[in-house]
Amino acid sequence: MRCGGRRRAAVAAALAWLCGAGLIATGPAVGSGAGRQAGPVAQMLMVLGIDGFRPDYLDTADVPALRGLAARGVRAAGLIPPFPSKTFPSFITIATGLVPAHHGILNNTMDDPAIPVRFRLSDHEGRSDPRWWLGEPVWVTAERQGVRAAGMFWPGDDVEIQGRRPSDWTAFDQDLPHDTRVDRVLDWLSRPAGTRPRLMMLYFDLVDTASHTFGPHSREALAAAAAADRLVARLLAGVAARGFTASTNVVVVSDHGMAETSPDRVVVLDDYLDLSAVDVIETGPSVRLQPKRVPALSPAGREAWARRTFAALDGRHPRLRVYRGNRLPARFRYTGSVRIPPIIGLADDGWLVQTREQRDRWLARGGGARGEHGFDPALPSMHGVFVAAGPAFREGVRLPAFESRHAYELFCRVLGIRPSKNDGDPAVTRPALAGVPGR
Ligand code: AMP
Ligand code: ZN
Ligand code: ZN
Repeated sequence: MRCGGRRRAAVAAALAWLCGAGLIATGPAVGSGAGRQAGPVAQMLMVLGIDGFRPDYLDTADVPALRGLAARGVRAAGLIPPFPSKTFPSFITIATGLVPAHHGILNNTMDDPAIPVRFRLSDHEGRSDPRWWLGEPVWVTAERQGVRAAGMFWPGDDVEIQGRRPSDWTAFDQDLPHDTRVDRVLDWLSRPAGTRPRLMMLYFDLVDTASHTFGPHSREALAAAAAADRLVARLLAGVAARGFTASTNVVVVSDHGMAETSPDRVVVLDDYLDLSAVDVIETGPSVRLQPKRVPALSPAGREAWARRTFAALDGRHPRLRVYRGNRLPARFRYTGSVRIPPIIGLADDGWLVQTREQRDRWLARGGGARGEHGFDPALPSMHGVFVAAGPAFREGVRLPAFESRHAYELFCRVLGIRPSKNDGDPAVTRPALAGVPGR
């Protein structure tokens, strides 16, 4: 029996609430296999973040497990990332339901005048400063309400946010084999009910890595997508072997897509600016600039610098749009934070802003196609994937592309926990859910 089957009215309403609220599950849903769990068990939620997985890989790559999940559950045309379409801002938006200006992780690399060390992905200690983290990830929402959560490399799960981490977490180690990551999740499932997590957040980086190096349409990227699919299959088989198929919801997301880049499509920064006076925080699809810090400029000096730099770049290359910080298009919702640098340039789809040295190094290495993300999130090339299946979800649902800030409300609904204040709208994903009262 699945939640949502025929019942008498009052009983149906009560059961529907329990099912929608993530409290019980009573029938087969994900994968196959008889299962050993007797009687109703609390629904679990596994969120799989596959970095850089494009939604078209569902059709172009060898991904039978993901296609199977989509057939048994829900598939969106795309998951629209926030601005910037970069790993940390985007995965934290998925986890918090907040846009980056509200959750505080405004870029993979950023400064805050009140925090002495630059935020960088590679600097665990620096990015662990709690002042960076302004939002509440779903694992904190869950733990606060007595729902045990576990993270396997989900961005942010290895730092204390509001004084909490998930009950289980591991310091990020990109070299930890992906099979081992999956097996760790399965080990959690093998625990007794008291210490078994109900929320599990798992992260795979293999597709992003291959796609950056060889381009999103390369054999290598498609092979990495197929390898990610085998990891999904391994996970589902382990879930089935432990008898949790009927009580497990699986949601597969990615933080962004990937666009093909080439050294023939580069805006060379040195052609427009004397870089000796500029702190280049980031190059790539977007370029972030501020004046060099030493000696520190007065506010008036910063303003004059920003005006000069803006004028030197604005309208100078047909593939580059330049913005004063905090004045980006309103649809980016990227405003009101001291972490936004004074100048941001954004290249057209598939173009990059680089220093001459970066472009020349690329050419020296052969100049082959590569992949990048960080472009305008509205571009289809930047859209991520969304697939979900399990007892909380309806079968065979197709959703239009939706913004990833709406996922947090969905996660809370599946787990039956109260969401914290966020930028999402539960109505966006409601058509995906089975047995939700009032639908
Ligand atoms: P991006 O530069 O946006 O492509 O970021 C992808 C990279 O982020 C990965 O290749 C990892 O090196 C890094 N990364 C992903 N997850 C984590 C994590 N939990 N902690 C630290 N670094 C991470
Ligand atoms: Zn990423
Ligand atoms: Zn990446």
